[in-house]
Amino acid sequence: MPQYNPPQRDFSFVLHELLNVPEALGQMPAHKDVDADTIDAVIEQAGKFAAEVLFPLNASGDIEGCTLDPATHAVRTPKGFKEAYAAYVEGGWPSLTSAPEYGGQGLPVVLYQCVNEMLTAANQAWTMYPGLSHGAYALLNAHGTSEQKALYLPRLASGLWTGTMCLTEAQCGTDLGLLRTRAEPQADGSYLLTGEKIFISAGEHDLAENIVHLVLARLPEAPAGSKGISLFVVPKFRVGSDGALGERNGIWCGALEHKMGIHGNATCQMVLEGAHATLVGQPNKGLAAMFVMMNASRLGVGNQSLGLMEVAYQNAAAYAKDRIQMRSLSGIKAADKPADPIIVHPDVRRMLLTARAYAEGARALACFTALLIDTELSAADEAERAEAADLVAVLTPVIKAFTTDNAWIATSLCMQVFGGHGYIREWGMEQYVRDARINMIYEGTNGIQALDLLGRKVLGDNGKKLKKFGKLVAEFVEQEGTDEAMQEFINPLAELGDKLTRLTTELGMKAFQNPDEVGGAAVDYLRIVGHLVLGYFWARMAKLALQKKDSGDPFYAAKLHTARFYFAKLMPETAGLIRSVRSGVAPILAMDESMF
Ligand SMILES: Cc1cc2nc3c(=O)[nH]c(=O)nc-3n(C[C@H](O)[C@H](O)[C@H](O)COP(=O)(O)OP(=O)(O)OC[C@H]3O[C@@H](n4cnc5c(N)ncnc54)[C@H](O)[C@@H]3O)c2cc1C
Repeated sequence: MPQYNPPQRDFSFVLHELLNVPEALGQMPAHKDVDADTIDAVIEQAGKFAAEVLFPLNASGDIEGCTLDPATHAVRTPKGFKEAYAAYVEGGWPSLTSAPEYGGQGLPVVLYQCVNEMLTAANQAWTMYPGLSHGAYALLNAHGTSEQKALYLPRLASGLWTGTMCLTEAQCGTDLGLLRTRAEPQADGSYLLTGEKIFISAGEHDLAENIVHLVLARLPEAPAGSKGISLFVVPKFRVGSDGALGERNGIWCGALEHKMGIHGNATCQMVLEGAHATLVGQPNKGLAAMFVMMNASRLGVGNQSLGLMEVAYQNAAAYAKDRIQMRSLSGIKAADKPADPIIVHPDVRRMLLTARAYAEGARALACFTALLIDTELSAADEAERAEAADLVAVLTPVIKAFTTDNAWIATSLCMQVFGGHGYIREWGMEQYVRDARINMIYEGTNGIQALDLLGRKVLGDNGKKLKKFGKLVAEFVEQEGTDEAMQEFINPLAELGDKLTRLTTELGMKAFQNPDEVGGAAVDYLRIVGHLVLGYFWARMAKLALQKKDSGDPFYAAKLHTARFYFAKLMPETAGLIRSVRSGVAPILAMDESMF
């Protein structure tokens, strides 16, 4: 059976040494009292909950899955999930970042980021149930009426009710402009919704007393396409203004999807038949409002992959030290044993270090971005808030796509470390690979994230947002450029930054002549940006590790080795990617459709 140890030491390094989180929060009026002790205590308690309550349910939840009672439309989650959710609510975890006026604790997002990484590492399928409530809370907080806020926010914050996002229909996933669910206005200002949604995560379950569905639908005479989409809130049980549960609403689970991974999470086909709803935000402006939830979910999906990389790495590293096979090429290493532990073999180390470098790099990036969100929400200075928002916008598709692509690579490599045993259920590794795969698909496929980055956020903006990140890189290069010990990190980072600038200009010109060039380059381009971003964090972490390398603490030596591995073995992938981008879209589009 696999094990999970919350990475407390690395959290401490990232939050206190790399990002100076308590100091940064001290500048924000809403968080000025959040000190280092509070941060460490919350992370420690969350780690205990993740490891002791959620992790033991991960494999059993995967095997058992969810079941639907077709007569009542009730969905039963795997054994133990309900009790774990009750303990989660009892512990006050759902309200961590919610506003005190809605019963929340008002703690910073950066803290939730760490808590959520551990929950998801321990049990991705379970964590999706409360995870979606966070996005629903943020959306209603941003766009709800005062009545909607008063009704829903305290109950989402406490965990009494959970949230969902209902976008996808059979004929529309990426292209939501094609959606057909209809909303009929009623005399009392409410709406009745009719249609069918598919693939709705946590659409029905037995964890909470009510479910708050956020549903996209069309009003009569709405313009065609994405300009005619409105957003509605549809509770599973109708509710009075005092929050008391009323009759069952006309929205239910018609079937559960049978899928590759995250079996413990109910992926539901949802039927709406005259479901009572209220409008959220303005008519026909629903998609823009929904982006509040989608952006939060995109970061959440990146976090799911970060958690999976961490837990897969931990287990693969432990196995590699224990499993003995063959002798080291350079001579016997464990003379007391009939063979050497496989960790002596360079290829096994390559696999382990790849997973570790991607996981620890992703943690630094995710915490940095979460702190930016705190800045965006809570900094006293408006210009600072706007600057942070631009950086979050450009980093969101990178976190979503680069981290989830890397987790697919990393979990697969960690499974490979186990050889045939990795492919067998008993060791738990194949579940991580299966669970990781969905993260590249939902919340906008990674191909769509790449288009969002290159098309909208870089070329559509004359590179302004990306340049803001480039400025951070340039400042660090400037600051460390004269330090001899940092050259092995600074030189490739600066070189990649220059190449990316040139490549972006070239792409802008090509795209002007042929828009398909954007589609041909976007996925490679996002990966190049991903390496620049991760390279920046690895260089900063290497700097700290160099400063403390004589401290005798092996943590810093390991950090330095991992940084060196990242720069020597992973970042050079960008050379091939740049060549691929430069080769243009012609080799992709040249073949006639009939030849496929
Ligand atoms: C387990 C699971 C849980 C889910 N949870 C939810 C949920 O809670 N709520 C919800 O609303 N949805 C949910 N989804 C749906 C998910 O978000 C969609 O499946 C996803 O957005 C892709 O849509 P699609 O499946 O219709 O694929 P399509 O949109 O048909 O895409 C097919 C392929 O074409 C590519 N493609 C499409 N358009 C373009 C383009 N313009 N340029 C380049 N490539 C393009 C895509 O990248 C993809 O590779 C879930 C799906 C699954 C499997």
